Amino acid sequence: MVNINIIYWFVLLATFVGIFFLGSKTELKLWARVITALVLGIILGFAFGDAAQSSKWIGDLFVRLIRMLVIPLIFTSLVAGVVSMGDPKRLGSIGVKTIGLYLISTMFAIVIGLVLGSVFQPGQGIDLTGVEPMTAGVASTSVADRLFGIVPINPISSLANGEVLPIIFFSILLGIGIIMGGEKTKAVGNVFAAAAEAVLKIAHLVMQLAPYGVLCLIAWVAGTMGMGALQNLFILTIILYCGCILHMLLVYGGALKFIVRLPLIRFFRGMLDAQAVAYSTSSSSATLPVTIQCVQKNLGVSQTVSSSVLPLGATINMDGTALYLGIVALFSAQIFGIDLTLADYFLIALTVTLTSIGTAGIPSASLFLLATVLSVIGITDSQTALIVGFVLPFDRVLDMARTVVNITGDATVSVIVAKSENELDESTFLDDAVI
Ligand code: ASP
Repeated sequence: MVNINIIYWFVLLATFVGIFFLGSKTELKLWARVITALVLGIILGFAFGDAAQSSKWIGDLFVRLIRMLVIPLIFTSLVAGVVSMGDPKRLGSIGVKTIGLYLISTMFAIVIGLVLGSVFQPGQGIDLTGVEPMTAGVASTSVADRLFGIVPINPISSLANGEVLPIIFFSILLGIGIIMGGEKTKAVGNVFAAAAEAVLKIAHLVMQLAPYGVLCLIAWVAGTMGMGALQNLFILTIILYCGCILHMLLVYGGALKFIVRLPLIRFFRGMLDAQAVAYSTSSSSATLPVTIQCVQKNLGVSQTVSSSVLPLGATINMDGTALYLGIVALFSAQIFGIDLTLADYFLIALTVTLTSIGTAGIPSASLFLLATVLSVIGITDSQTALIVGFVLPFDRVLDMARTVVNITGDATVSVIVAKSENELDESTFLDDAVI
């Protein structure tokens, strides 16, 4: 009998060849190839089950290649962005608008999560007997620690350790220093601008591998996810996916249509590459170089705005995560029969906001911060461990959706800020040929 792994690899390689020819012969656009790969990956995963695990390394390799670019890209493009702004005072207005919009969109996400969780009651009738408890494995950082940690003691070590907020802080100051130096430091500014361009070119190259990486990652998820877990969490999953779609259409769509008056469909088309990478990697940090590339090249947002708004967003703005945490808080209260008062809802909203700010842009990060949110409504640590144990086997599918929302929210805010600062090239935004 022929081994299923061999058949899987045969079909996989044939699919790769097919996707390659779709690109070279029919000149199918990258975003269309990535979406095709996503769909084929799901089919392959369901068809071959565990065998799909054997090609996960191709997806991991792709993720490593993009992650390799995150820090060089933030550093070079943010310094170059600040320098090209010319006047450091404008940073203040960009910063205030960005943080304000991030907070407002997070609030909307929480409200949507809480409304859906109350109306559809995903926790009703769920029995946790027999669930293996899981305790938190990811260390949480308090907001106070995060604020203090923004100032790096040693910027080189922050770069080496990939600490995004301290890098943002140092890059902005370095950019300001370069502007203040005038003619004397102009050459340094030019070096950063050229380096940023070079890193973006590498990102463009790496993205050519996206269809193959995305396919293998999705096949792995579809092939290894226990269907038993899917049944248990079916309602929660449907509610989360509907909430994510609603949030993107109503809040981002509404903002784009009524505040900046730009076509929604074009925005989503321009973001598809980044959304597909976010969906398959479940990590907004790893997706950052692709988000920056889409927002600059496809949506016409200037380097100045995209290089400051997006890295900050990938670190602190997590609307999908906030929406999810709101639903899971109600889900848990329903399971443990806790009646919530209006004050509890406010408390949940406040803690979810702070927790989502403190969530790292990595897979399943927020699930491990659940204890912070659940403790405010009287759920004990051991009860939280049961919830985490129950959700974890299927969290990847939930995480994929919230990560898409997380990066789409960052991109929406970058477009709005860019438009209000005259940093948006609308002809690029409206031009379908650039995608
Ligand atoms: N995986 C999410 C992200 O990277 C964070 C989360 O777990 O909600 O954006």
